[in-house]
Amino acid sequence: MEVLADIDVLICGAGAAGLTLAIDLARRGVSFRIIEKLERPFGGSRGKGIQPRTQEVFEDLGILDRITAAGGIYPPARDYRSDGSYEEKSMFEERAPTPDAPYRKALMLPQFLTEAVMRERLAELGHAVEFDSSLIGFDHGEGGVSVHLRSPRGEERVQTRYLVGADGGRSFVRKALRVAFPGKTLGVRAVVADVRLSGLDRDAWHQFNSGDMERLVVICPLAGTNLFQVQAPIPIDGEPDLSPKVLERMIGERSARSGIEIRSVSWASAYSMNARLADRYRVGRVFLIGDAAHIHPPTGGQGLNTSVQDAYNLGWKLSSVLAGAPDALLDTYEQERRPIAQHMLGLSSRLLDAQRQQGVQARGRDTDQLDLDYARSSLSHDGDTRISKIFAGRRMFDAALVGAAGQPRRLFDMMTGPHWTLVRAAADYRPDAGGREGVRVISIGDAAELRDPFDQLGLVSGSTLLIRPDGYVGATFDTASLDDIEPYLARVLPPLSLLSATSGSAAPTRLS
Ligand SMILES: Cc1cc2nc3c(=O)[nH]c(=O)nc-3n(C[C@H](O)[C@H](O)[C@H](O)COP(=O)(O)OP(=O)(O)OC[C@H]3O[C@@H](n4cnc5c(N)ncnc54)[C@H](O)[C@@H]3O)c2cc1C
Repeated sequence: MEVLADIDVLICGAGAAGLTLAIDLARRGVSFRIIEKLERPFGGSRGKGIQPRTQEVFEDLGILDRITAAGGIYPPARDYRSDGSYEEKSMFEERAPTPDAPYRKALMLPQFLTEAVMRERLAELGHAVEFDSSLIGFDHGEGGVSVHLRSPRGEERVQTRYLVGADGGRSFVRKALRVAFPGKTLGVRAVVADVRLSGLDRDAWHQFNSGDMERLVVICPLAGTNLFQVQAPIPIDGEPDLSPKVLERMIGERSARSGIEIRSVSWASAYSMNARLADRYRVGRVFLIGDAAHIHPPTGGQGLNTSVQDAYNLGWKLSSVLAGAPDALLDTYEQERRPIAQHMLGLSSRLLDAQRQQGVQARGRDTDQLDLDYARSSLSHDGDTRISKIFAGRRMFDAALVGAAGQPRRLFDMMTGPHWTLVRAAADYRPDAGGREGVRVISIGDAAELRDPFDQLGLVSGSTLLIRPDGYVGATFDTASLDDIEPYLARVLPPLSLLSATSGSAAPTRLS
């Protein structure tokens, strides 16, 4: 079947997931539109924790330094006792940066600022979110997706090759696909509000009645703003009053302190905690990412991070298949990301239970997302013999290398960008040794392009490593299996004959 499409991808929803995908597609030259039903950017703090693995992703997308400059690190948690005395402890187990993991601390930035940084990056890449534009229907088939949009300009039909539902927990796209969203309601309802207040200092995350879910209230200064985020469990039923006076009274009663005064509320919401996972992430040419595919309790700060990494996993695969790689590559999105969300649901629910019983918990290594892997993915391939401590499917760690000219080089610098990275462990550098479009080839050895002075990678000479565009090890090849490299690349990249054809033009593209 051959159909004319206006664009390659329509992204429905401009939250953290949709914006991440938009940045990734923009830097790859894919033609897309990103629509958002809100009239203006969302203004609430919600997901404020940026985990170490997401920081690595943001480095690749060119926004880490801005996110860091706009936000800050978490202050210590100050747990007040009923007599007004308190104990202070770090929210995180102490972990110093190392050459293999340069970002070890979660950053704090309210979600509205994270999204503002993302929109700035998107603008630099020549794209903008279309606000006040809603997806109101779609038909999908083998040839493409016909989407129905509504905006102040009127209603519009758009033909797109792929539709991505990045439209949050109540996802219109998921419901229209009739994809089930099983899971449970966790019996906790909470208020979250961004407020200006006086009577508390900004150098601690204030926590009153930790472990008592009826009287708990936590008040966190939001880095990069003069706001505090207030979070407190509330009764399951009834319509809560979120006015400044009522919030102030609740804080006064639960903290047993006078003098905490709320000056204004910039955003407030009441929500019920759920742990749910979509049965499918892909139906034909339609995909679900972010909260549209999974919702978690906020404990452990996993939701936004998991959403960003869904988009980061899907972006390069869409781009590659649009350029001619086999469609089966897109099946690996669900194969890889759904088990991760399943794991996250368990983790955040366990942390919620622990919080119910023992109060707010310090976050361990399991929340920083550095150890997540795709080892069971059909894309992960290890040669017969181990070539190093590196395994297919694991996150490729960073390494402090030295360039042949003597300058310091990070492995992450070589990986930054939308390409694959092919690492050859070779004694010396041989020009013209198999580079191809979309693959950056680097050699590591004593007289090669780069040296590994402390043998951080531990590569056996003659072996080869293929690192995916999203920073995971795709495949390892020992000296006996180097012939397997081309067949592997044929599964993930367009055939060489198609590579020069562009998919990013504004002109209509043919669907087949
Ligand atoms: C109190 C609280 C604290 C949290 N803390 C953390 C934390 O510390 N760390 C963390 O990682 N996560 C946290 N989260 C979770 C995080 O906020 C979400 O996981 C994240 O927002 C998901 O991003 P998303 O882009 O998938 O969805 P959303 O941010 O929900 O964005 C979806 C967008 O789609 C738009 N949309 C919906 N339907 C349509 C339509 N038909 N047409 C066009 N647009 C549409 C919506 O308007 C919305 O802007 C927290 C959440 C809450 C509530």
